[in-house]
Amino acid sequence: MEFSEEQILLKNTVSRFAKEQVAPLASEIDEQERFPSETFEKMSQLGLLGLGIPEEYGGVGGGIVESCIVGEGLARYCASTVASWGAHVDLCAANICRNGSEEQKKRLLPDLASGKKLGGMAMTEPDAGSDVFAMKTRAVEDGDFFILNGRKTFITNGPVGDIFLVYAKTDPKARGKGITAFVVEKGFQGFSKGKKFKKLGWHGSPTGDLIFEDCRVPRENVIGEINGGAKILLSGLNSERLLLAAESLGLAKECLKDATQYGTERIQFGKRIADFQMVMEKLARMATKVEAAKAMVWSQAFKMAGKGPASMSMETAAAKLFASETALQNALDATQIFGGYGYIREFPVERYLRDARIMTIGGGTSEIMCQVIFRELEKGL
Ligand SMILES: Cc1cc2nc3c(=O)[nH]c(=O)nc-3n(C[C@H](O)[C@H](O)[C@H](O)COP(=O)(O)OP(=O)(O)OC[C@H]3O[C@@H](n4cnc5c(N)ncnc54)[C@H](O)[C@@H]3O)c2cc1C
Repeated sequence: MEFSEEQILLKNTVSRFAKEQVAPLASEIDEQERFPSETFEKMSQLGLLGLGIPEEYGGVGGGIVESCIVGEGLARYCASTVASWGAHVDLCAANICRNGSEEQKKRLLPDLASGKKLGGMAMTEPDAGSDVFAMKTRAVEDGDFFILNGRKTFITNGPVGDIFLVYAKTDPKARGKGITAFVVEKGFQGFSKGKKFKKLGWHGSPTGDLIFEDCRVPRENVIGEINGGAKILLSGLNSERLLLAAESLGLAKECLKDATQYGTERIQFGKRIADFQMVMEKLARMATKVEAAKAMVWSQAFKMAGKGPASMSMETAAAKLFASETALQNALDATQIFGGYGYIREFPVERYLRDARIMTIGGGTSEIMCQVIFRELEKGL
């Protein structure tokens, strides 16, 4: 669980970048509900958009530990920026890295690594969320192409992205065993963007629908094997869940920091409010949960770095469950400690609460995390 010198350097670089470049825009992009393209340009210059992509394909290397370092560091200041960054590097690029052919990696990764193209991942559909294998988007072979028909919903970067890892049914009767992964690029015939959603939080990370109407995807854009998409999807989910846990940790820490500062400055009844035992206990419990989440996230990140994302679902689910619920609870507690100021936009805790709400839902809900954990428990009987 010791960070290497390079990882410490990355942590410090990201922390400085987030404080100096990301934090000043966080409130503005939230208010204006706009994607921070200027921050993405700066992240591209720093190499952060090529994190996890090997140097031979234009990236800067690194793996899940490095992704979690950046995820936590950015999430402390702007949950929207980190959401769109995560969809690009982890949901899209990292999975192409893991499962793409040499030709596909050479063709697709350099533009993602440089930030020339923005990535995303599309599995969710209006009638297939937690039950993702119930997806209806259909892909039918037609010579050198697959013809896709269907609609994906709630897609992070949907409205602004260029390249999407899309899952569709190639054998509709087979549930998980009938899914194939495709790379669909902006400009493909029959591919269009649907509505952009207005959301409670993550205002700077655009979320939208993707529509496929006889969309022609060349066979060379099939990732992995035909009908072999479930394995790719699940490994992606495992990695996404750990990254979301790291982002939740960042958010939970920031809530604790702001609440501690406010609690030691705000005077009521002639005393600092943090000296009232009920407030003090809240802060102590917030800190304790942050420590526990930290241990879960980093132990799992180091394990996953050694073994790969496929085999770790229980510990990852536990880390995501605990860290995301900690982020949400710490955001609630922070707004409580801020009193009326916690409810207005003068202080960022109001935004933290709105941004924290998605963490127990996206990438698999808390209920689904419990299901994954229980299934693993049963296996051990
Ligand atoms: C802002 C945002 C960004 C997103 N980004 C992406 C993205 O980039 N790509 C993508 O593919 N998807 C994305 N999603 C989709 C997200 O992963 C799903 O919303 C999530 O998995 C839940 O699915 P659902 O919304 O259909 O809820 P449902 O599955 O309908 O769940 C509704 C409720 O029922 C509960 N429930 C469902 N099944 C069970 C069960 N078996 N046991 C107990 N309880 C159950 C759930 O826990 C939940 O409380 C995003 C969503 C949002 C809101």
